[in-house]
Amino acid sequence: MQDAIIQALSKVIDPELRIPLTELDMVGEISVSSEGVAEVEIKLTITGCPASRRIESESKAAIEQVEGIKSVSIKLSVMTPEERDALKIKLRGGKPMKHNPFDETTLTNIFLIGSGKGGVGKSTLTANLAVALSAQGLRVGLIDADIYGFSIPGQLGITEKPTRVDELILPPVAFGVKVISIGMFIEGNTPVAWRGPMLHRAIEQFLSDVFWGDLDVLLVDLPPGTGDIAITLGQLLPTAKTIVVTTPQISASEVAERSGAVGLQTGQAIFGVIENMSYLQQGDQRIELFGSGGGELVASHLSELSKTEVLLLGKIPISIPLREGSDTGNPLLGQESNDLAALAIEQIAQKIAGTGRELAGRRLPLSPR
Ligand code: ADP
Repeated sequence: MQDAIIQALSKVIDPELRIPLTELDMVGEISVSSEGVAEVEIKLTITGCPASRRIESESKAAIEQVEGIKSVSIKLSVMTPEERDALKIKLRGGKPMKHNPFDETTLTNIFLIGSGKGGVGKSTLTANLAVALSAQGLRVGLIDADIYGFSIPGQLGITEKPTRVDELILPPVAFGVKVISIGMFIEGNTPVAWRGPMLHRAIEQFLSDVFWGDLDVLLVDLPPGTGDIAITLGQLLPTAKTIVVTTPQISASEVAERSGAVGLQTGQAIFGVIENMSYLQQGDQRIELFGSGGGELVASHLSELSKTEVLLLGKIPISIPLREGSDTGNPLLGQESNDLAALAIEQIAQKIAGTGRELAGRRLPLSPR
């Protein structure tokens, strides 16, 4: 009976860590009376764990399915500091704390998504691409490094704060995506007025103190422009590839090109360019509200600069459902939709999913001048 209960609990996934309770050593004492009354102890990582109710009800439901069990009572307790230490070591795969898991040895495919100007839809596309990649079955992480203009939590409907297990930060999960944002660490809508070194430290913490687990893809939403953060991330994520988002406007494309060029300076390969707000489809008519040609222009200029072919990955039309989805925290790519923007984003997600870490994005050797 004990084995059957453990087997049942191996199907219960910790909502924050995305790992079965049994693998997290969260299952404590199990007793079953001759009448089939089960008493099972579940050891939470911390007191007041926000996921405790969900863990309790899912464990209860799983054990009730075991043949011969008439009733279940779950006793929630908390791990001892020693048990928690052992768990942290296990979670880090034996690696020490303060270790950046995304250094040059990482197998995760990392993309820095940048733009020249704000408001071109970079965060909207990043959030929706993450949701689309997760829906394809990939393990996806998303860092909102748009420190001043963070909007990812709102776009994905995340209101909860990350849980802390001592110094380890557990990222909230939305639409299957593990998400961390500076917006989760500040109260209300307080402006963030940080200097370079503090920003650098915050980004470092996002990489090393957050429990990401094994990820297939990590997307990073950069702040617009060519600032400190892009450079910091370039150094900390040596295998990352840049994706540049622009609108079709020629003047916007020149600014976008500069943001891609920063990636080249820190040794990042450019994965491609996305043109957003490309047109508005009205029946058979395509209205090019912001002109045309910006995406192609950025791709061709960045190809010249990098001396490799930089592709235009896709053109996303203006879409009311896309905008509404990000306003309401219910991203379009998390819904069933035949919207043209949804289809275009899905196609780009497939291109991202189809790239191997080994094939591209190796850090180019930097020669000092
Ligand atoms: P950025 O991250 O570049 O500053 P956002 O992703 O915040 O830009 O987008 C700015 C605004 O434009 C948001 O309100 C968003 O919903 C909207 N938006 C982005 N892309 C589209 C699109 N293709 N169609 C309609 N609205 C869009």
